[in-house]
Amino acid sequence: PAPLAEHGPAQIIAMCNQKGGVGKTTSTINLGAALAEYGRRVLLVDFDPQGALSVGLGVNPMELDVTVYNLLMERGLTADEVLLKTAVPGMDLLPSNIDLSAAEVQLVSEVARESALARALKPLLPDYDYVIIDCQPSLGLLTVNALTAAHSVIVPLECEFFALRGVALLTETIEKVCERLNPELRLDGILATMYDSRTVHSREVLARVVEAFGEHVFHTVIGRTVRFPETTVAGEPITTYATNSVGAAAYRQLAREVLDRCRPAE
Ligand code: ADP
Ligand code: MG
Repeated sequence: PAPLAEHGPAQIIAMCNQKGGVGKTTSTINLGAALAEYGRRVLLVDFDPQGALSVGLGVNPMELDVTVYNLLMERGLTADEVLLKTAVPGMDLLPSNIDLSAAEVQLVSEVARESALARALKPLLPDYDYVIIDCQPSLGLLTVNALTAAHSVIVPLECEFFALRGVALLTETIEKVCERLNPELRLDGILATMYDSRTVHSREVLARVVEAFGEHVFHTVIGRTVRFPETTVAGEPITTYATNSVGAAAYRQLAREVLDRCRPAE
Protein backbone atom coordinates (compact mmCIF):
# COMPACT_ATOMS: atom_id res chain seq x y z
CA PRO A 1 0.00 0.00 0.00
CA ALA A 2 1.16 3.50 -0.85
CA PRO A 3 2.33 5.75 1.98
CA LEU A 4 0.02 8.63 2.85
CA ALA A 5 0.93 12.24 2.17
CA GLU A 6 -1.23 13.35 5.07
CA HIS A 7 -3.30 11.71 7.80
CA GLY A 8 -6.97 11.70 8.71
CA PRO A 9 -9.85 12.12 8.89
CA ALA A 10 -10.28 8.65 10.32
CA GLN A 11 -12.56 5.90 9.08
CA ILE A 12 -14.25 4.38 12.12
CA ILE A 13 -14.73 0.61 12.15
CA ALA A 14 -16.81 -1.22 14.76
CA MET A 15 -15.62 -4.80 15.40
CA CYS A 16 -18.91 -6.35 16.37
CA ASN A 17 -20.57 -9.66 17.18
CA GLN A 18 -22.77 -10.23 20.24
CA LYS A 19 -21.26 -13.69 20.58
CA GLY A 20 -18.15 -13.88 22.77
CA GLY A 21 -14.96 -15.68 21.81
CA VAL A 22 -15.24 -15.16 18.05
CA GLY A 23 -12.07 -13.12 17.61
CA LYS A 24 -13.23 -9.48 17.98
CA THR A 25 -10.46 -8.43 20.33
CA THR A 26 -7.78 -10.45 18.51
CA SER A 27 -8.86 -8.93 15.20
CA THR A 28 -8.94 -5.40 16.60
CA ILE A 29 -5.37 -5.64 17.91
CA ASN A 30 -3.89 -7.37 14.89
CA LEU A 31 -5.75 -5.51 12.15
CA GLY A 32 -4.76 -2.30 13.93
CA ALA A 33 -1.10 -3.33 14.19
CA ALA A 34 -1.01 -4.39 10.53
CA LEU A 35 -2.54 -1.08 9.41
CA ALA A 36 0.05 0.74 11.52
CA GLU A 37 2.83 -1.28 9.83
CA TYR A 38 1.51 0.08 6.55
CA GLY A 39 2.03 3.59 7.85
CA ARG A 40 -1.54 4.30 8.92
CA ARG A 41 -2.25 6.08 12.18
CA VAL A 42 -4.51 3.88 14.22
CA LEU A 43 -6.57 4.39 17.35
CA LEU A 44 -7.98 1.33 19.10
CA VAL A 45 -10.95 1.82 21.41
CA ASP A 46 -11.53 -0.74 24.13
CA PHE A 47 -15.33 -0.67 24.41
CA ASP A 48 -15.75 -3.80 26.49
CA PRO A 49 -15.78 -3.45 30.30
CA GLN A 50 -13.76 -6.69 30.44
CA GLY A 51 -10.79 -4.67 29.16
CA ALA A 52 -9.41 -7.57 27.10
CA LEU A 53 -8.11 -5.23 24.39
CA SER A 54 -6.19 -3.25 26.98
CA VAL A 55 -4.78 -6.46 28.50
CA GLY A 56 -3.83 -7.71 25.03
CA LEU A 57 -1.71 -4.60 24.60
CA GLY A 58 0.05 -5.06 27.91
CA VAL A 59 -2.06 -2.62 29.96
CA ASN A 60 -3.42 -3.57 33.38
CA PRO A 61 -6.99 -2.22 33.39
CA MET A 62 -7.20 -2.23 37.20
CA GLU A 63 -4.43 0.33 37.46
CA LEU A 64 -6.07 2.94 35.24
CA ASP A 65 -7.36 6.17 36.80
CA VAL A 66 -9.14 7.37 33.69
CA THR A 67 -10.59 5.29 30.89
CA VAL A 68 -12.98 5.62 27.99
CA TYR A 69 -15.72 5.65 30.64
CA ASN A 70 -14.56 9.05 31.91
CA LEU A 71 -14.34 10.33 28.36
CA LEU A 72 -17.99 9.37 27.82
CA MET A 73 -19.39 10.68 31.08
CA GLU A 74 -17.32 13.73 32.01
CA ARG A 75 -17.55 16.97 30.11
CA GLY A 76 -14.30 18.86 29.97
CA LEU A 77 -12.04 15.83 29.99
CA THR A 78 -9.98 15.68 26.78
CA ALA A 79 -9.02 12.52 24.96
CA ASP A 80 -5.27 13.01 25.39
CA GLU A 81 -5.79 12.66 29.16
CA VAL A 82 -7.03 9.12 28.49
CA LEU A 83 -4.98 8.08 25.43
CA LEU A 84 -2.13 5.61 25.84
CA LYS A 85 0.66 4.96 23.35
CA THR A 86 1.16 1.29 22.52
CA ALA A 87 4.46 -0.46 21.72
CA VAL A 88 3.43 -0.38 18.05
CA PRO A 89 4.55 2.90 16.46
CA GLY A 90 1.56 4.86 15.16
CA MET A 91 -1.01 2.91 17.20
CA ASP A 92 -2.72 4.40 20.27
CA LEU A 93 -5.27 3.01 22.71
CA LEU A 94 -8.29 4.36 24.55
CA PRO A 95 -8.30 1.80 27.37
CA SER A 96 -11.21 0.64 29.46
CA ASN A 97 -11.98 -1.37 32.54
CA ILE A 98 -14.98 -2.47 34.57
CA ASP A 99 -15.99 1.19 35.14
CA LEU A 100 -17.45 1.14 31.64
CA SER A 101 -20.20 -1.24 32.73
CA ALA A 102 -21.73 1.65 34.69
CA ALA A 103 -21.96 3.74 31.53
CA GLU A 104 -24.50 1.34 30.07
CA VAL A 105 -26.88 2.23 32.91
CA GLN A 106 -25.95 5.88 33.33
CA LEU A 107 -26.27 6.72 29.64
CA VAL A 108 -29.90 5.61 29.56
CA SER A 109 -31.09 8.88 31.09
CA GLU A 110 -28.87 11.09 28.89
CA VAL A 111 -29.97 13.14 25.90
CA ALA A 112 -28.59 11.59 22.69
CA ARG A 113 -27.49 8.57 24.69
CA GLU A 114 -26.66 6.64 21.51
CA SER A 115 -24.12 9.18 20.30
CA ALA A 116 -21.95 9.65 23.40
CA LEU A 117 -19.03 7.75 21.85
CA ALA A 118 -19.34 9.53 18.50
CA ARG A 119 -19.17 12.83 20.38
CA ALA A 120 -16.13 11.73 22.40
CA LEU A 121 -14.23 10.51 19.32
CA LYS A 122 -14.92 13.51 17.11
CA PRO A 123 -11.98 15.71 18.20
CA LEU A 124 -9.59 12.78 17.58
CA LEU A 125 -10.58 11.99 14.00
CA PRO A 126 -8.20 14.43 12.24
CA ASP A 127 -5.20 12.72 13.88
CA TYR A 128 -5.90 9.17 12.70
CA ASP A 129 -6.55 7.18 9.55
CA TYR A 130 -8.44 4.35 11.27
CA VAL A 131 -10.29 4.06 14.55
CA ILE A 132 -11.26 0.48 15.46
CA ILE A 133 -13.79 -0.07 18.24
CA ASP A 134 -13.63 -3.43 20.02
CA CYS A 135 -17.25 -4.03 21.06
CA GLN A 136 -18.49 -6.03 24.00
CA PRO A 137 -20.38 -9.27 23.36
CA SER A 138 -23.90 -7.82 23.51
CA LEU A 139 -26.22 -5.65 21.45
CA GLY A 140 -26.86 -3.22 24.30
CA LEU A 141 -26.42 0.53 24.48
CA LEU A 142 -22.61 0.43 24.37
CA THR A 143 -22.63 -1.51 21.11
CA VAL A 144 -25.31 0.80 19.71
CA ASN A 145 -22.97 3.69 20.59
CA ALA A 146 -20.17 1.99 18.65
CA LEU A 147 -22.44 1.43 15.64
CA THR A 148 -23.64 5.04 15.80
CA ALA A 149 -20.05 6.32 15.79
CA ALA A 150 -18.85 3.99 13.02
CA HIS A 151 -18.63 4.31 9.25
CA SER A 152 -18.50 0.56 8.86
CA VAL A 153 -18.79 -2.73 10.70
CA ILE A 154 -16.59 -5.81 10.58
CA VAL A 155 -18.22 -8.97 11.95
CA PRO A 156 -15.81 -11.75 12.94
CA LEU A 157 -17.48 -15.16 12.60
CA GLU A 158 -15.94 -18.24 14.08
CA CYS A 159 -15.95 -21.18 11.63
CA GLU A 160 -18.01 -23.32 13.99
CA PHE A 161 -21.36 -25.00 13.70
CA PHE A 162 -23.46 -22.30 15.37
CA ALA A 163 -21.57 -19.36 13.84
CA LEU A 164 -24.56 -18.11 11.84
CA ARG A 165 -26.91 -18.33 14.76
CA GLY A 166 -27.58 -14.82 16.00
CA VAL A 167 -26.15 -13.11 12.94
CA ALA A 168 -29.67 -12.21 11.74
CA LEU A 169 -30.23 -10.35 15.00
CA LEU A 170 -26.94 -8.52 14.51
CA THR A 171 -27.71 -7.49 10.92
CA GLU A 172 -31.18 -6.33 12.07
CA THR A 173 -29.53 -4.16 14.71
CA ILE A 174 -27.13 -2.74 12.11
CA GLU A 175 -30.11 -1.96 9.85
CA LYS A 176 -32.02 -0.25 12.66
CA VAL A 177 -29.03 1.91 13.61
CA CYS A 178 -28.64 2.74 9.93
CA GLU A 179 -32.29 3.82 9.64
CA ARG A 180 -32.58 5.75 12.86
CA LEU A 181 -29.18 6.98 13.95
CA ASN A 182 -26.44 6.62 11.37
CA PRO A 183 -27.45 6.44 7.69
CA GLU A 184 -23.77 6.21 6.64
CA LEU A 185 -23.20 2.86 8.35
CA ARG A 186 -22.06 0.02 6.07
CA LEU A 187 -21.39 -3.66 6.70
CA ASP A 188 -17.90 -3.78 5.27
CA GLY A 189 -17.29 -7.34 5.92
CA ILE A 190 -17.73 -10.67 7.50
CA LEU A 191 -14.39 -12.03 8.68
CA ALA A 192 -14.10 -15.81 9.01
CA THR A 193 -11.94 -16.66 12.03
CA MET A 194 -10.59 -19.79 13.73
CA TYR A 195 -10.66 -21.63 10.45
CA ASP A 196 -9.19 -25.11 10.48
CA SER A 197 -8.46 -26.22 6.92
CA ARG A 198 -7.92 -29.83 8.05
CA THR A 199 -11.56 -30.27 9.01
CA VAL A 200 -14.40 -30.73 6.58
CA HIS A 201 -16.53 -29.01 9.17
CA SER A 202 -14.62 -25.72 8.98
CA ARG A 203 -14.76 -25.79 5.18
CA GLU A 204 -18.52 -26.41 5.26
CA VAL A 205 -19.16 -23.56 7.65
CA LEU A 206 -17.05 -21.21 5.50
CA ALA A 207 -18.99 -22.29 2.39
CA ARG A 208 -22.29 -21.51 4.16
CA VAL A 209 -21.03 -18.12 5.30
CA VAL A 210 -20.03 -17.24 1.72
CA GLU A 211 -23.41 -18.51 0.49
CA ALA A 212 -25.20 -16.26 2.99
CA PHE A 213 -23.11 -13.11 2.62
CA GLY A 214 -21.41 -13.34 -0.80
CA GLU A 215 -19.27 -10.31 -1.56
CA HIS A 216 -19.49 -9.15 2.05
CA VAL A 217 -17.12 -11.90 3.13
CA PHE A 218 -13.45 -10.87 3.26
CA HIS A 219 -11.19 -13.03 1.09
CA THR A 220 -8.83 -13.22 4.04
CA VAL A 221 -9.61 -16.11 6.37
CA ILE A 222 -7.99 -16.27 9.81
CA GLY A 223 -6.76 -19.75 10.62
CA ARG A 224 -6.94 -21.35 14.05
CA THR A 225 -3.56 -21.29 15.75
CA VAL A 226 -2.33 -21.36 19.31
CA ARG A 227 -0.14 -18.39 18.40
CA PHE A 228 -3.09 -16.05 19.11
CA PRO A 229 -3.68 -17.08 22.74
CA GLU A 230 0.10 -16.80 23.18
CA THR A 231 0.08 -13.17 22.01
CA THR A 232 -2.49 -12.30 24.67
CA VAL A 233 -0.15 -13.57 27.35
CA ALA A 234 2.73 -11.66 25.75
CA GLY A 235 0.59 -8.48 25.61
CA GLU A 236 1.47 -7.65 22.03
CA PRO A 237 0.14 -8.12 18.50
CA ILE A 238 1.09 -11.18 16.46
CA THR A 239 2.73 -8.87 13.89
CA THR A 240 5.51 -8.18 16.41
CA TYR A 241 5.31 -11.32 18.60
CA ALA A 242 5.63 -13.76 15.68
CA THR A 243 6.23 -11.45 12.77
CA ASN A 244 6.81 -14.20 10.18
CA SER A 245 3.90 -16.40 11.27
CA VAL A 246 0.93 -17.40 9.16
CA GLY A 247 -1.33 -15.48 11.57
CA ALA A 248 0.64 -12.25 11.11
CA ALA A 249 0.50 -12.68 7.33
CA ALA A 250 -3.28 -13.20 7.50
CA TYR A 251 -3.87 -9.94 9.39
CA ARG A 252 -1.58 -8.09 6.96
CA GLN A 253 -3.66 -9.44 4.11
CA LEU A 254 -6.82 -8.33 5.93
CA ALA A 255 -5.29 -4.87 6.38
CA ARG A 256 -4.75 -4.60 2.63
CA GLU A 257 -8.39 -5.58 2.03
CA VAL A 258 -9.53 -3.03 4.58
CA LEU A 259 -7.42 -0.31 2.93
CA ASP A 260 -9.27 -1.20 -0.25
CA ARG A 261 -12.78 -1.50 1.16
CA CYS A 262 -13.13 0.60 4.26
CA ARG A 263 -12.69 4.02 2.76
CA PRO A 264 -15.04 6.97 2.57
CA ALA A 265 -17.99 6.57 0.20
CA GLU A 266 -17.49 8.73 -2.88
P1 ADP B 1 -13.84 -11.98 21.44
O1 ADP B 1 -13.20 -10.64 21.59
O2 ADP B 1 -14.78 -12.05 20.29
O3 ADP B 1 -14.47 -12.47 22.71
P2 ADP B 1 -11.13 -13.00 21.36
O4 ADP B 1 -10.42 -12.27 20.28
O5 ADP B 1 -10.87 -12.57 22.76
O6 ADP B 1 -12.68 -13.05 21.07
O7 ADP B 1 -10.76 -14.54 21.20
C1 ADP B 1 -11.23 -15.51 22.14
C2 ADP B 1 -10.11 -16.50 22.45
O8 ADP B 1 -9.73 -17.18 21.27
C3 ADP B 1 -8.85 -15.81 22.95
O9 ADP B 1 -8.25 -16.64 23.90
C4 ADP B 1 -7.98 -15.70 21.72
O10 ADP B 1 -6.60 -15.72 22.03
C5 ADP B 1 -8.38 -16.95 20.95
N1 ADP B 1 -8.27 -16.75 19.50
C6 ADP B 1 -8.65 -15.68 18.78
N2 ADP B 1 -8.43 -15.87 17.47
C7 ADP B 1 -7.90 -17.11 17.36
C8 ADP B 1 -7.46 -17.92 16.25
N3 ADP B 1 -7.51 -17.48 15.00
N4 ADP B 1 -6.97 -19.15 16.53
C9 ADP B 1 -6.92 -19.60 17.79
N5 ADP B 1 -7.31 -18.92 18.87
C10 ADP B 1 -7.81 -17.69 18.66
MG1 MG C 1 -13.31 -9.30 23.22
